[in-house]
Amino acid sequence: MQTKERVLITGAAGFLGSHLCDRFIKEGYSVIGMDNLITGDLKNIAHLFPNAAFEFYHHDVSKFVFVPGELRYILHFASPASPIDYLKIPIQTLKVSSLGTHNLLGLAKVKNARILVASTSEVYGDPLVHPQVEEYWGNVNPVGPRGVYDEAKRFMEAITMAYHTYHQVETRIVRIFNTYGPRMRLNDGRVLPAFIGQALRGEDLTMFGDGSQTRSFCYVDDLVEGIYRLLKSDYTEPVNIGNPSEITIKAFAEEILKLTGANQKLISLPLPKDDPKQRQPDITKAKKLLGWEPKVSRAEGLKITYDYFKSLDKEELFKKEHRFV
Ligand code: UDP
Repeated sequence: MQTKERVLITGAAGFLGSHLCDRFIKEGYSVIGMDNLITGDLKNIAHLFPNAAFEFYHHDVSKFVFVPGELRYILHFASPASPIDYLKIPIQTLKVSSLGTHNLLGLAKVKNARILVASTSEVYGDPLVHPQVEEYWGNVNPVGPRGVYDEAKRFMEAITMAYHTYHQVETRIVRIFNTYGPRMRLNDGRVLPAFIGQALRGEDLTMFGDGSQTRSFCYVDDLVEGIYRLLKSDYTEPVNIGNPSEITIKAFAEEILKLTGANQKLISLPLPKDDPKQRQPDITKAKKLLGWEPKVSRAEGLKITYDYFKSLDKEELFKKEHRFV
């Protein structure tokens, strides 16, 4: 019998990491999931534990990473990913994408593995070019509240490129735009779980500023497909993966109220510092190079996501605290 190729996925117990674990198991790989469980939750991967093709390492990738045996691919998805998280755990946010990426690139080099790192639309900061093309260098405040995330991800891209050019490591860089779906953390402060949670609890929806800022939301299955294709491609420059369907936060809140049938109000809270005014991926590259584009409409994706949040137990729904250990 042929042995399965092995894939290491960091951030495996998180929202995106857990969906990637599912996908690689489905594709016939043997998956090693790694997570320090600061923001991840074992519940997201509990269903994989009985599977012989899945192993879990409880480890912080900011420290030296040791994995015995061969590795074909490494996907680095460990990182806090919401503005509230960056404020609460700024040092860990910086370390996981800087020291953590360095450790994983070193691992990729010794294992002769291909590594894909999860970068972000935040490298564009509060963008002055719209929609955002990969060639745009961004408008980032290094010392603002988002700086710890944005600059760590920019460093991640730089060191990944350096390992590619200097050590010939096979690298891939995905720039992920706002993504949503089941297994998002209900209380991570991001807009979609915030609004759906509020709708389910009977609270007013907290719109920041006048809600005229825009985002473009991609359903998780579409994102995973794009990442899978990028990993398998031979393209080493950064690629945007996201859904170009752009909407204002106000209109988004209204969609959530309609979907949930809630009759609460929208209340306006102060806009956080450096909150990007507009964001929309230009996906020309992904279309051309990967033959990829999103398939799931916001209406379909939101329905699935709402059903997921509705199915959570009441205790989870009303839990306000973040789980930082
Ligand atoms: N937002 C909001 N109400 C909330 C949470 C977020 O209006 O309760 C806004 C936030 O100011 C931002 C947008 O929704 O403009 C998306 O925020 P999120 O934290 O999801 O991610 P971002 O794209 O800003 O990193």
